[in-house]
Amino acid sequence: MYFIDVIVPVPIKNLFTYKITESESVFLKNGMRVAVEFGKSKIYTAIIANIHTTAPTAYEAKDIHQILDEYPIVNEIQLKHWEWISSYYMCTLGEVLRAALPSAFLLESETNIELYQGFASENELSDDEFLIFEALQHQPLLTIQQIMDILGKKTVFPIIKSLISKNAIVVKEQIYEQYKPKLIKYVRLKDYYKTEENLSQLLSSLNRAQKQREVILAYFQLQTTKKPIKASQLQESSGCSLAIINSLADKEILEYYFIQTDRVNFDGSENSLKPLTSFQQTAYHEIIESFTNNQTVLLKGVTSSGKTEIYAKLISEQFQLEKQVLYLVPEIALTTQLIGRLQVYFGNQLSVFHSKYSMNERVEVWNNVLDSKSKAQLIIGARSSLFLPYSNLGLIIVDEEHETSFKQHDPSPRYHARDAAIVLAQIHSSKVILGSATPSIESYYNAKQGKFGFVELINRFGNVQLPEIELVDIKEKYRKKRMTGHFSDSLITAISEALALKEQVILFQNRRGFAPVVECETCGVSPQCPQCDVSLTFHSYSKELRCHYCGYKQAMQQLCGACGSEKLDTKGFGTEQIEMELNALFPDALVGRMDLDTTRGKYGYHKIIGQFEAQEIEILVGTQMLSKGLDFANVTLVGILNADNMLNFPDFRAHERSYQLMVQVSGRAGRAEKRGKVLIQTFNPYHQILQQVSTHSYEEMFKEQIDERWQYNYPPFYRIIKLTLRHKNFLKVDDAAIWMGKSMTLVFGNLVLGPSTPSVSKIRNYYIRNLILKIPQKNSLSKTKNNLQKIINSFQVISEFKSIKLTIDIDNY
Ligand code: ADP
Ligand code: ZN
Ligand code: ZN
Repeated sequence: MYFIDVIVPVPIKNLFTYKITESESVFLKNGMRVAVEFGKSKIYTAIIANIHTTAPTAYEAKDIHQILDEYPIVNEIQLKHWEWISSYYMCTLGEVLRAALPSAFLLESETNIELYQGFASENELSDDEFLIFEALQHQPLLTIQQIMDILGKKTVFPIIKSLISKNAIVVKEQIYEQYKPKLIKYVRLKDYYKTEENLSQLLSSLNRAQKQREVILAYFQLQTTKKPIKASQLQESSGCSLAIINSLADKEILEYYFIQTDRVNFDGSENSLKPLTSFQQTAYHEIIESFTNNQTVLLKGVTSSGKTEIYAKLISEQFQLEKQVLYLVPEIALTTQLIGRLQVYFGNQLSVFHSKYSMNERVEVWNNVLDSKSKAQLIIGARSSLFLPYSNLGLIIVDEEHETSFKQHDPSPRYHARDAAIVLAQIHSSKVILGSATPSIESYYNAKQGKFGFVELINRFGNVQLPEIELVDIKEKYRKKRMTGHFSDSLITAISEALALKEQVILFQNRRGFAPVVECETCGVSPQCPQCDVSLTFHSYSKELRCHYCGYKQAMQQLCGACGSEKLDTKGFGTEQIEMELNALFPDALVGRMDLDTTRGKYGYHKIIGQFEAQEIEILVGTQMLSKGLDFANVTLVGILNADNMLNFPDFRAHERSYQLMVQVSGRAGRAEKRGKVLIQTFNPYHQILQQVSTHSYEEMFKEQIDERWQYNYPPFYRIIKLTLRHKNFLKVDDAAIWMGKSMTLVFGNLVLGPSTPSVSKIRNYYIRNLILKIPQKNSLSKTKNNLQKIINSFQVISEFKSIKLTIDIDNY
C-alpha cells in the first residue's frame, strides 16, 4: 500500500493522507500537485509533502482524484521553509500554502472561471474546452464544480489549465487587477506584394496617393533591419498619420499583426557597474570579510551613501557564481527608481514580483524561477517574493530592513519577511545583507551581540553633507501669532526661498491621528462609523465622510446628527488640508499630493513620482510613503509639519519609529551638491528624540531605547505573542477573553497582560479584545507555544466559544 501526505490549502492542523497506486508512487514526487476530495465532496488542489507506506490510523485514506503535474512545482527547500513558518508563527501549512502559491495553481471546486476578453482562436480548442468556452458565452462566471457538471466528469483541472494557457479563460480574482497581456501592434506587407512585379505595380498605382507611397517607402527602409516593424515605428518614420496606415490596411496592402510581449520583461542593454568610491570599496570588503564568519550582515549606511551600488556589486558577484539573488523591498510600488537603476546593470536578468500583478504575471515569474531561467536570476519583490521556488539562492538583500511593512499582520501567516528571509537563507546556505540608514533596534542589537556581522558607511556619496536640521517651536509661534494655518513663518520663508531658486520642496505629514474629523461646535459630537469604533474622516475633495477601517462612506452632513446645529468644524489636518493651505500661501506654485487617495492603482505612484522628477511639481505633500528610498536631486528643503503626534503614539516602538521616519524623510533633502535643509515643527523641541534626530545621533537613540526596552520587558529582551479575539456579540467576546486570560495566567502567571480593549474596540461590527504574552529570553519559546496551543485547543472545544474568531500573532510588533 502506498500513501501520500498532502498540504490542503485550508486551515487544518495536520497533513492529510491519501491512497495512491504503486505506479503512482513511482511517478509522484514531493512538491507535485494532486486534486483531492476534502470535506463535503469538495475538490481542492493539494501539494504532496511525503510519500510513504504507512496507512493513517484515524481515518480510511481516500484515493486521490487526479495528478496535476508532471514535475514538482514546489521544491523541498520551500517545504522546509513553510514548515518553519507554520511552526514559528503558529499557523497551518495550508495557510502558508495559500499565501505562497499564485491562486491559479490552487484551483478548487469553488474557484470562479471567466472568459478572457479578446480570445478569438476557438478552432484551437479541444471538444471539452470548446464546451466550456461556449458555456461562458451565456454565463459570465462558472465555478469549477459547474464545469464538472457540464462535462459530466470530475477530471477537469487539466482542461482548465490548458484553457488558461491558451488565454481563453482566466481565474476570477477579486483582489487583483485583471491580467491584460501587453500586445504590441506590428505591421507587414501582404504576401501578394512580395513579388517584384506586383510591388512595382503597387508603387506606380500609388503615384497619386503620395502619403500612402511615403508609408510604403518608409516600410522598406525599416525592413532593412530585418526586425518586426511596429505600427508606431512606421508611423513615426514615415511622418504620416495612423489613418494613412489604416487605409493601406483596408486596401489589403499592409496588414497588422500582434505579438504578445513578455509581461514582466524589461529591455534595455546592460551597463557595467559604477566604480565604487574608496569608502564603498572598504565597506564592500568588510562585508565579504564578515560573510566568512556570519550568515547575516547588517549594513548601516547613512542615506545616500551608495548602499545600492554595493548591493549591485554583491549581486554581480553572485551572478558569476550562477546563483540567484532575492532583493526584498518594503513596498514595491515605490521602487520605480530602484528598479530602473538595477535594470541598467542587470537588464534581462531581473524580474519583479509584485502582489498587485495579475495571476498570470505571477505564474510567469514563478515558472521562470522554477526553471532557473536567466531572466529570473535577480528577483526584486516585496515580502511575498520569499515564497518563490528558488533552488539556488546565493544572497538575500533586505533593503530598508527597519520598515514595518515587512511584517504581515493579516491574514495568517503573520510572518516577518526579514526574519523569514534569514531562515530561508539558512536552508539555502546563502548569505543575507540587511541594509538601512536607521536599523531597527532588534537588528542593531543583534549586530552588537555578535549575532550579525556589522559594517558601517558614514560618508554620503560625493561627500554631500547631511542636511541641516532645525526644530521650530510652534507653541512659541502660536503664542507670537506667527502661524498661518499650520505653517510657521520660518517654514513659509524657507519654502519661498527654495521656490525662488527653482528648487523643490517635500512636506511631510504623518498619517496617524491626523485624519481630519468633523466636530460639532455646539455639542462636541463627531460623526462615527456605524460599524467601527472610530470617527469618520472628512475628505474635502469628494465632500464625503469615510471610515478608514472598513471603507464605509456617506455624504458630508449639513447639520449635526446629534443636536441639529449647523456649526460643524473640521478638526485635525490631513494632506488635503495642507495642500489647500499651500495653494492659498503660494498661489503660483505647483503643488502635488501623494497619499493613499492619490496613489491608488498600480501606476498611481509612478505618475506622481514621475511628475516630481520632471519638476512638474514644485512642492510635494505626502505621508510616510515619502520616506521610502526616493531620490530627487533637486529637493533642498524638507518640512515636517508636526512631529508630536507620532512621538505620542501609544506603542513601545513609537520613539524608534519616529526617529527612523524623521531621519529617512530628512534624507530626501540635499542629495546633490547643495546641503539640504530640514525644518521640523513641534510643540516640544526639547523632546529627546527630536534632539537626537537634529544631531543625527543614532547611537544615543539606540542606547536610550534599549534601556527602556530592558526596563519595561520589551523586545529584544522579551518576545511578544498577541492574541486577538473578535465577535459580533459584545458579551460573548468579553466572556471568552476573560476565560482565555484566566487560563493563560494559570500557566504563565504575570507574563500575561490583559484582556484589554484596544483603542479602536470595534471594527466592521466585530468587538475586539487583546491578550499579550511576554516571554523572557531564558524561557523556551517552543515550550511556551506548546503550552499556549494546549490552552487554545481547550478553548476551541468549548461550545459557546466556537464562533469566536481567534488570531495569534507572534512578534506582533
Ligand atoms: P543609499 O541607497 O545609501 O541611500 P544610493 O545608492 O541611492 O544611496 O546612492 C545615492 C546617489 O549617489 C545615487 O544617485 C547614486 O547613483 C549615487 N552614487 C552612489 N555611489 C556611487 C558611485 N560609486 N558612483 C557614482 N554614483 C554613485
Ligand atoms: Zn451637535
Ligand atoms: Zn468602519
